[in-house]
Amino acid sequence: MSEFIGSIDQGTTSTRFMVFDHGGNEIVRHQLEHEQILPRAGWVEHNPTEIWERTRSVITTAMNKADLGAGDLAAVGITNQRETTVVWNRRTGRTYCNAIVWQDTRTDKIANALHRDGRAEVVRQRSGLPPATYFAGGKLKWILDNVEGVRADAEKGEAIFGTIDTWLLWNLTGGTDGGVHATDATNASRTMLMDLETWDWDDELLSFFDVPRKMLPFILPSSNPEFYGTTRADGPFGGEVPLTGVLGDQQAATVGQVCFKPGEAKNTYGTGNFLLLNTGNEIVRSEHGLLTTICYQFGEHKPVYALEGSIAVTGSAVQWLRDQLGIISGAAQSEALAGQVSDNGGVYFVPAFSGLFAPYWRSDARGAIVGLSRYSTNAHIARATLESICFQTRDVVDAMQADSGVTLDVLRADGGVTANELCMQMQADVLGVPVYRPVVAETTALGAAYAAGLAVGFWRSTDELVENWQEDKRWQPTWDSDRRESEHARWKKAVSRTLDWVD
Ligand code: ADP
Repeated sequence: MSEFIGSIDQGTTSTRFMVFDHGGNEIVRHQLEHEQILPRAGWVEHNPTEIWERTRSVITTAMNKADLGAGDLAAVGITNQRETTVVWNRRTGRTYCNAIVWQDTRTDKIANALHRDGRAEVVRQRSGLPPATYFAGGKLKWILDNVEGVRADAEKGEAIFGTIDTWLLWNLTGGTDGGVHATDATNASRTMLMDLETWDWDDELLSFFDVPRKMLPFILPSSNPEFYGTTRADGPFGGEVPLTGVLGDQQAATVGQVCFKPGEAKNTYGTGNFLLLNTGNEIVRSEHGLLTTICYQFGEHKPVYALEGSIAVTGSAVQWLRDQLGIISGAAQSEALAGQVSDNGGVYFVPAFSGLFAPYWRSDARGAIVGLSRYSTNAHIARATLESICFQTRDVVDAMQADSGVTLDVLRADGGVTANELCMQMQADVLGVPVYRPVVAETTALGAAYAAGLAVGFWRSTDELVENWQEDKRWQPTWDSDRRESEHARWKKAVSRTLDWVD
């Protein structure tokens, strides 16, 4: 039997390919960034052709680095930035326009229109999602309504839709020459078009967004021995490898963090933050601004659901310090700069660049730095930026406890920002619970590998995966509850200053 599992992790800022062994250890990786296209305020696009080129390139480079061939891989999994929407022509393989990225807010009118009549409640009940610019359905409607030729081609069955997983799967399995047009249940659950109870596209939801059913992919289980197909011999693997796992990135990280029991949760700190709580086979409807989503569906089993708190801007606020303010030269430097001061000096930064996601869901919010005085320095702003990551997480944790009754006694963290030890210490302080980081911080790629490997018997059960999880480091809270609550109250006051900013 082949010794390894491959994992394609197509993220918002970069694409990586990683290979894991049976113990969940990393064998090799290669990673490439792609362009962030910002044509106007609020719009964020990616070029799907560039993403497919980068994907091929990271696969071939990593395979060559480790001297691996297709035969060394028992299976391959895909995980992806979710909600980002691609439409292409199945006959020519060409896209009609750039992908509209999850952070893009151009569809606010589409979301607002749903809120003006009773349809928002139908969307929420059936899909588990509050209508917002974040999700794929509105983005697809925008493309159908605004890009020439798409609607006519969609009615003919030629223009097809996919999230990035679908786009990569289609290309890897043959493209115009018989590529598989499918997605998994977790990605489908982010569209506002799927019924959470049937795991199928819903005709009424499709009618809200004027989406022809013909253009939609098949929805398959996230870990699937049969249907995703195999990679093409003339593709980047240079041979046929079964493609047996697909998971949206946050669900993949939940699997990589082995949160298989109801009540287990993880928080991923990347471009944004995403906290997912496993709620088992139960669909928990949120009353406090969280999303209900599919956590994973393995084989023939019923789906496992999750409550999710999605925060749009966390690590990307650190990038903003680097790229727009120029007060740090790299993300890691935020730790040293923030460490020059022992507290925030009364400065609070609410990075509501794309409005506020969970638990507020306010597209009319915009960012603010409040509490500035003549005493404030770059160091205070850096510290307030890191604290904003932690306070936003606190808001989501509070909502999660209110919705589920589950009290977190520990937070499992992963993602790029967890390299920042100061930020992780602040997180433990702001939450009042310990924060753990696992040895394999690349839990997203690992989760997709797990889904793919389970499907082919490389791993026999989730128990084997739980044994692979190892703690790297933990941070203990140091603030007393008075400080914790008064800091949080000031944060909430800062948040209130950012609302109602955009008409
Ligand atoms: P994604 O998968 O969303 O692209 P990653 O998990 O790769 O994200 O994390 C990248 C994010 O982490 C970037 O937004 C970057 O600003 C942030 N980041 C990386 N290292 C640090 C650090 N040491 N301190 C703070 N932020 C960091």
